[in-house]
Amino acid sequence: ANALLELNDLEVSFTIGKRVVPALQQISFQVGAGETVGIVGESGCGKSLTSLSVMGLLPGTAAMTKGGIMLDGKRMEQASGDSWSAVRGKQAAMIFQNPMSALNPLMPVGKQIAEMAMAHLSVSKPEAKRLALEMMTKVGLSRVERLYDDYPHRLSGGMMQRIMIAMALICKPKLLIADEPTTALDVTIQAQILDLLAELNRSTGTAILFISHDLGVIREVCRRVIVMYAGYIVEDAPVEEILDHPKHPYTAGLLKSLPGADKRGSALYTIPGRVPAITDRKGGCPFAGRCPSASDVCERIAPELRQTLAGHGDHRVRCHLYADGGRAV
Ligand code: SF4
Ligand code: MG
Repeated sequence: ANALLELNDLEVSFTIGKRVVPALQQISFQVGAGETVGIVGESGCGKSLTSLSVMGLLPGTAAMTKGGIMLDGKRMEQASGDSWSAVRGKQAAMIFQNPMSALNPLMPVGKQIAEMAMAHLSVSKPEAKRLALEMMTKVGLSRVERLYDDYPHRLSGGMMQRIMIAMALICKPKLLIADEPTTALDVTIQAQILDLLAELNRSTGTAILFISHDLGVIREVCRRVIVMYAGYIVEDAPVEEILDHPKHPYTAGLLKSLPGADKRGSALYTIPGRVPAITDRKGGCPFAGRCPSASDVCERIAPELRQTLAGHGDHRVRCHLYADGGRAV
């Protein structure tokens, strides 16, 4: 069976002056119907760029320069603006870190949800309102009749994120892309929103592609996690496998820097160094400059993404430490 979402050797590049510089390379992964997949990595690793590619929302200076994207059996990389907007909302919808930027400050929040329904579902106005109220209840908002007519600035950050989720789900998309949706929220509200997303995945079967710099957040919602570094996938495995048996040194570093990972009282670990800028990437392993296990070969030869034979289930890793016994994928 075809996957719901399939990225195949995707490369995305920026035009900088006269140069065309790749920012994402060799990105291949699938998301099955109803599946929950996380993408983790520091900022600048290509997580958001990956999600924007799927939504057809790449910035004007960026373009897909290789490979492609299939969404629900439809080839996306050559889609025109029109076929993208047909897909948005219906097949795939997106929620962001800052809901305020996606909401119209001058329109009541309920009406914004209803308008989304009218635009994509060809329903009447009263029916759209009924669906909007129903969805507002479903995302855990209360007194929805009154809330329907409230303007965005009257809502708390958590309520606004629930409105965004309602807007995203009103057209019953097969895929929900969530890019750091809880990063701006306090811890309690964050936990509630993560629970809500996990619950909606179970009750509606909407697949979720969840993007975060925080593995702790991803494990609340996702069954599988893809680790990105400097524009590459460096590891991809079921979430428990990543948490218990991380293979890539970068993943191990991310785990070590999770709050609570270290002994109490000791300072929080951070991976030394920083993600190389896209104009600064050389040959060899992109993580070599920060990797505690780097050897000569790492500086010279870029490792391939390989299926590892050790470990359980599907586990891919891009690191010379696992070159033996793995097969390139
Ligand atoms: Fe570290 Fe080498 Fe593996 Fe890269 S290939 S992550 S530098 S050990
Ligand atoms: Mg980002």
